[in-house]
Amino acid sequence: MAKKKKKTSSKTRRTKEKIKAKKIDFAPKEEAKRELKISAIEEGTVIDHIPTDATFKVVEILDLENQKGIVSIATNLSSKKIGKKAIIKVGGKSLSQEEVNKIAIVAPDATVNIIKNYNVKEKIKVKTPDVIDNVVKCSNPVCITNNEQIATKFYVVKKDPLKIKCHYCERSMGKEGIEII
Ligand SMILES: [Zn+2]
Repeated sequence: MAKKKKKTSSKTRRTKEKIKAKKIDFAPKEEAKRELKISAIEEGTVIDHIPTDATFKVVEILDLENQKGIVSIATNLSSKKIGKKAIIKVGGKSLSQEEVNKIAIVAPDATVNIIKNYNVKEKIKVKTPDVIDNVVKCSNPVCITNNEQIATKFYVVKKDPLKIKCHYCERSMGKEGIEII
């Protein structure tokens, strides 16, 4: 009787081992796929709901080229809210209010998530400012801001779609003409 019992248990163990081995073989692949999509960060900032055409403008605003920590950029993801979107994750970086305001100009629907210990600690909805100081370049070549050392200043005439007006030359610009300084 005891012998029989022993046999059964070793058989069970073998079956278990088989399942376990299969699982190990499978799991990293799935994980790797998810990792490729966008990796989780322990500490830092995740900017979500960026319109795809503003992806690299946000990269420029945050100077991610010179960022030392992990930076993940995923674009052309499907979004129920805005159709196609981009997500940018920046490890070890918290955004300044100035950076958040700049993001609002190119990505008015963006959400900024502050990450601590892999969890969202705070969610900030960006807000387009009424006045944009020294962020956008004036598209008018004869504007004083393009010829003298004067910081640019724009008034937001309309938020969506964005329309701004230069304080100095009164040139109106839409979303397309916006060049970040
Ligand atoms: Zn101007």
